Amino acid sequence: MIAQLTHDVSGILSVDNLLSEFESLPTPPRSGVSEISTWFEDHRFLRLLEADAGTLSVARTYLAYHSPLADSIFAVHGLCSRTLQNGNSRHLATLSARSLGAFALTESGAGSDARAVSCNAQTVDGGYVLTGTKSFVSNAPVAVGCVCFAQVDGGSSSSVSAFWVPFDANGIEVEELDAGDHIIGSVNFLSVELDESSLVGGVGQGMSLAFETLGVFRATVGASAIGMAMRAFDEAINHTSNRSQFGKKLIAIESLQNELAEIFAKLELAKSLLWRTVHRQVNGKSTASDVSLAKWQCTELAQQIIDGCLQLHGGLGILEDSVVQQLYLAIRPQRIYEGTSEIQRRIVGRAIAKRFK
Ligand SMILES: Cc1cc2nc3c(=O)[nH]c(=O)nc-3n(C[C@H](O)[C@H](O)[C@H](O)COP(=O)(O)OP(=O)(O)OC[C@H]3O[C@@H](n4cnc5c(N)ncnc54)[C@H](O)[C@@H]3O)c2cc1C
Repeated sequence: MIAQLTHDVSGILSVDNLLSEFESLPTPPRSGVSEISTWFEDHRFLRLLEADAGTLSVARTYLAYHSPLADSIFAVHGLCSRTLQNGNSRHLATLSARSLGAFALTESGAGSDARAVSCNAQTVDGGYVLTGTKSFVSNAPVAVGCVCFAQVDGGSSSSVSAFWVPFDANGIEVEELDAGDHIIGSVNFLSVELDESSLVGGVGQGMSLAFETLGVFRATVGASAIGMAMRAFDEAINHTSNRSQFGKKLIAIESLQNELAEIFAKLELAKSLLWRTVHRQVNGKSTASDVSLAKWQCTELAQQIIDGCLQLHGGLGILEDSVVQQLYLAIRPQRIYEGTSEIQRRIVGRAIAKRFK
């Protein structure tokens, strides 16, 4: 896997030290939040969250190949820590591998239309009182707190601000949602008292902080999708090389070789697009539309690749302990979170119309 990554990013991204460091690591655990936290801690892995989109992307490809759960915990923690960092919040020091963070933007009335948040932070003497509900908050059931985006004093979307909210404060209810291996919940804020230091950045800076963070992480969703697709492909090669039907190995059947060729082509396309985009991003030459294109196409292609690889496993592919079945479940939400495929397509379409009108 490292050999493939080295081949993909050499000459495009300067991450040679990182790749050789990964070579020496034990593989990250596929399950267990505590085991994953220990692994992050032992290898000081979360420090990579402060790096640029190139390093983040390579780290996510590596993690997702071995453990989609570790990758998702890592990325969501990063959404939280990066927002605290960009907002110069002293609460960044609260976070660690054992004290995970979450990022709470989505609400029942504010999904794709993220600016429509209605959670409210009322100004009071010495701070704020936060009320409302956030839905689809990844990491929430295992986090020590979240960055929450809320209007201030019931103002308009221009008043939306970011707040650090510790989950041991009075008035917090975290409800776990069942989304397979993905750790996620909704969070109720029942008149939660926050002191002034909870404000991250300034009043009204919430949406720009959110979009700044999401802008860094969006292409890395594509990198994670590629890690999963690479793993599925390796699993399919392994399976078809070992399983025989009609007196020969599956990989010796011509129509299955053609299927593998189709899958391989999609994988190479996704990787080319992703690393080209990340290279431009690191060099300050990418547009929002470039990044949206990469997130959209890499996650869509990865879904097709993993589906094809599962099909090559026959019935074994749908069993719960099969790696391809786990990948099949893990890839699906990537076409939805951090902006759905349709929203990325809209961004790309608008950029085309603007450029060619
Ligand atoms: C597993 C998972 C983890 C998540 N983690 C987090 C998290 O940690 N923090 C967080 O804040 N949020 C999180 N989310 C929420 C995620 O960002 C939203 O689900 C996503 O933005 C879509 O919003 P929605 O679900 O309300 O769908 P809707 O916005 O209701 O969209 C429904 C459908 O309509 C389409 N649609 C909507 N508007 C348009 C339009 N203008 N043009 C074309 N199509 C449109 C969408 O593409 C989609 O297909 C997570 C979601 C999932 C599934």
